[in-house]
Amino acid sequence: DNAQPKKPSWIRVKAPTGAGYKETRDILRENKLVTVCEEASCPNVGECWNQGHATMMIMGDICTRGCTFCNIATGKPEALDAFEPGRVAHAVETLGLKHVVITSVDRDDLKDGGAEHIAQTIRAVRHRAPDTTIEVLTPDFLKCPVSAVEAVVEARPDVFNHNLETVPGLYPTVRPGARYFHSLRLLQQVKEMDPTIFTKSGIMVGLGEDKQSVQQVMDDMRAADVDFLTIGQYLQPTPKHHGVARFVEPDEFKAYEKAAWGKGFLMVSATPLTRSSYHAGDDFARLRDA
Ligand code: SF4
Ligand code: SF4
Repeated sequence: DNAQPKKPSWIRVKAPTGAGYKETRDILRENKLVTVCEEASCPNVGECWNQGHATMMIMGDICTRGCTFCNIATGKPEALDAFEPGRVAHAVETLGLKHVVITSVDRDDLKDGGAEHIAQTIRAVRHRAPDTTIEVLTPDFLKCPVSAVEAVVEARPDVFNHNLETVPGLYPTVRPGARYFHSLRLLQQVKEMDPTIFTKSGIMVGLGEDKQSVQQVMDDMRAADVDFLTIGQYLQPTPKHHGVARFVEPDEFKAYEKAAWGKGFLMVSATPLTRSSYHAGDDFARLRDA
């Protein structure tokens, strides 16, 4: 049954326009950078790009995984581009970003899952834009040696983000190539390796999870010492993707938010249009200046 619930009024997506939007777009194009903002048809692209905030995607636009909520093509990726870290750094400097989110596809074809390339990108950005805070949103390094995780941690991102994406019961249908407890353990490992790095994770709701499981995921994250949490409404990128089970009401998001603060997260964003990287810089600045 492909019938989808109708989009409610609180999911409003404005067509992206504005000078800031165009400037960000041009700088990203000139540097041949792929963004999640575009690849995932993110509803916040107008707002974010007008503020010069974008999430850059490195290591190509073809993923070795096939998560059923994700619009990125699955297949055999191309070789890594050794000049990419430099291009990302140049774009970050040109855009004058206070905070940058750098993410990637999963590269199960590489022994280290692309960890060294991510580390190089962090170092390149640090060098060109020393005042920019850096958030990496990483793959799960499922079949990689622990040295892969170490390589990223040693490059010292300010925030290490890895999304659990959904509740454990939905992994087989939503995130079939991943393992819930592996992802949770990854977040904990990062904290153990370097407690000064903030860790962050998030889930989408409206995929068919029950409220109890959402609470459980929050508890699991806190048990793994995760600092920041994001919860947003899942939107179906195309009719071929996982269906939207329901649109979660704004009040339910508020209840999740309240529960999350109570559980001790340092930063919480839980609204229908929250995305992993939405307002990431503002939140981080608020915390740092507190
Ligand atoms: Fe890009 Fe994240 Fe903003 Fe969406 S929320 S437009 S992915 S920076
Ligand atoms: Fe998309 Fe990431 Fe899943 Fe790849 S691993 S399909 S990029 S969500």
